[in-house]
Amino acid sequence: MKLFLASGILLAMATLSLRASEINVAALARDPNVARSTDWLAHNLPWITEQQIHLNEIPAPEFSEAERGAALRKLFDACALKTHVDAIGNVIGERIGSHPDDVILLAAHLDTVFPAGTDVRVKRNGSRLEAPGIADNGAGLAALVAISRALEEGHIRTGMTVIFAGDVGEEGEGNLRGIRALVETYKTRLRAVIAIDGAAIDYITTQGLASRRIEAVVTGPGGHSWSDFGAPNPITAISRGIVKFSAISVPDSPRTSFNFGIIEGGTSVNSIPNRAAVKVDLRSEDDAQLVRLEAALRDAIQTGANEEMGAQRGANQLEATFRSLGVRPSGKLAENSDLLAAITSVDAFLGNSSRRERSSTDANVPLSLGIPAIAIGGGGLGGGSHSLDEWYESTDRFVGLKRILLTTLLIARTAS
Ligand SMILES: [Zn+2]
Repeated sequence: MKLFLASGILLAMATLSLRASEINVAALARDPNVARSTDWLAHNLPWITEQQIHLNEIPAPEFSEAERGAALRKLFDACALKTHVDAIGNVIGERIGSHPDDVILLAAHLDTVFPAGTDVRVKRNGSRLEAPGIADNGAGLAALVAISRALEEGHIRTGMTVIFAGDVGEEGEGNLRGIRALVETYKTRLRAVIAIDGAAIDYITTQGLASRRIEAVVTGPGGHSWSDFGAPNPITAISRGIVKFSAISVPDSPRTSFNFGIIEGGTSVNSIPNRAAVKVDLRSEDDAQLVRLEAALRDAIQTGANEEMGAQRGANQLEATFRSLGVRPSGKLAENSDLLAAITSVDAFLGNSSRRERSSTDANVPLSLGIPAIAIGGGGLGGGSHSLDEWYESTDRFVGLKRILLTTLLIARTAS
């Protein structure tokens, strides 16, 4: 009974505070300029989809985002943003506010996981679009374009400066270098970061998942498959190490994962290879688990090499080395932050139910530095992320765009 009573009171309190903020959102949404912006979004959804297709069909593999970035910059230029491309390729459009010492950053990553040569042309299937990268991050880039244009069409003047950025290096081995540079550039003025990543609007990423990416390499003398038979084999050594490491137990809580994602080595079927390498992704809700996993990985690969040398005739002939491909820091949005209050109020206003999530996104970087940040979807639905069968469904995109617009304006505030 006590429990019921307590939760009843809590519920009542939550409803009260929510109501207060819902009124704020409703008032904001009724502002004539804001209403003009949302009307523009509502009436230009086909145009937004066209821009998404246009950007998606320009390949943007890791470290090759420049051409897609140039196309995004043109779209920013058409929205009266002050644009430039920074030293590492981030495409930046600034909408200067009446208080330019305060900045809110809306960022969507330009890069995809797909290598050069992947067919990224978009197949239309009614309101469904099919292409690698079309949701991740075609939906995010489309939202960036839509919001920047909607602010212009609504003649909205903001208090804070709003920065729109298509950033490089979010995926794979990019190691978040784009968002790191943006945060470095604006950090003393940065009041909030909204990373727009993917489509769905049923979640708010408020915590950054820590990860470490490591390449393990085993090298040896190599040789002829027949005449040098018995020399230690780096492929066999690294395989022994992988099997050994895979027996490790990882906790469900804090949730922890590992993946051997790429393995390579050898030059021909009748040569003993002189090199084998594997790339590993380690993730955890707890940094301490990552420290443990990385140590265990090094140990397993080294033990695999030792066993291979012991099994063959080759003491000291194999060498195991390790290289960090990236470290993503963790972080958590404070419960009492204005940004969390803003997005939850907007969700209540829109009748959108969302859950909190922990994930590995551009938001990791600001969160790790104590800067308020979230990652959210750009609207619509998506699936098959990071696969060739990726799809995006544009129905309901409008709700997602309105959600981003209102959240941004609650933080940036409108200036009259
Ligand atoms: Zn993404």
